[in-house]
Amino acid sequence: MITVVDLEAPLRKAIATFTKCHSTKQAIKVAEVLLDWGQNLSDDIYKQTIKLGFNNGCIKGCSYCCYQNVQITPFEAISISAWIARNLDKKSIELIYERSTNIHSINANEKSDYQRWSLREPCPCLDLKTNKCLIYEARPLNCRISSSHSRKLCENNFNDFESECMNIQSTVLLKLRLKKKQYFSPKEDLTLNSYTTRVISNLSIDHFIKLFSLSSENNNMISSDTINKITSYLSMELSSVLRFTLHGKLNTHIKSILDCDENVISCCYKTTD
Ligand code: SF4
Ligand code: SF4
Repeated sequence: MITVVDLEAPLRKAIATFTKCHSTKQAIKVAEVLLDWGQNLSDDIYKQTIKLGFNNGCIKGCSYCCYQNVQITPFEAISISAWIARNLDKKSIELIYERSTNIHSINANEKSDYQRWSLREPCPCLDLKTNKCLIYEARPLNCRISSSHSRKLCENNFNDFESECMNIQSTVLLKLRLKKKQYFSPKEDLTLNSYTTRVISNLSIDHFIKLFSLSSENNNMISSDTINKITSYLSMELSSVLRFTLHGKLNTHIKSILDCDENVISCCYKTTD
């Protein structure tokens, strides 16, 4: 069984290399570690789903979950941009650009998860004719680890405009939570999603990793406020990234995020003191 613990060692190693050189190549390697782990986890959840006697709801062309706020890390941003440049034709790139611009024009990229969901605004990478993801091979971690045992449940949720979120937490995951603690942090009762957020929060800056280990050793875990603060620096909304990518300004934007580390770090230390 793939566990969250499997992510930490390779991720730390990749980030350590990245922090020495800050090169695009190494940033893509960090994203690869993250995304490969996400894919393995997703395959594993699929197997467990079948084993527990459920069907797997997710199939090609099912896209109710592609109307949510998708947050990615700067590493994924670099990796997705490189993938788009290598693999997509001009027409697809133009389509993504137009849709990202549209999302931006209605400020959907700045909305809370709930507000974004209530708009039912499709992800710019969703091909609306085929309902397939245009960047499937490079899709973000958050997309990889979303799964449901019931397509009907997702469809109902999508059509219910009173629903506050996509709510695709399947009962399979809940059952796994009861059966096996391995999907979650051994010391804490974190959900998969909040654990992943924490891991993502530790990305990019070695100081974060030190802070994380220090807190673990002292049995004084980082507060959720701090996690939110760090995540807000390190999370990027997918359509905003794509607008930057297609304008050729992404590197400058990412550099400004990665360069903010000193401020972020001092704010973390202040909060955890
Ligand atoms: S999570 Fe739900 S909406 Fe998304 S692919 Fe799976 S069944 Fe379809
Ligand atoms: S990146 Fe792909 S899988 Fe993720 S929300 Fe967009 S269209 Fe869906």
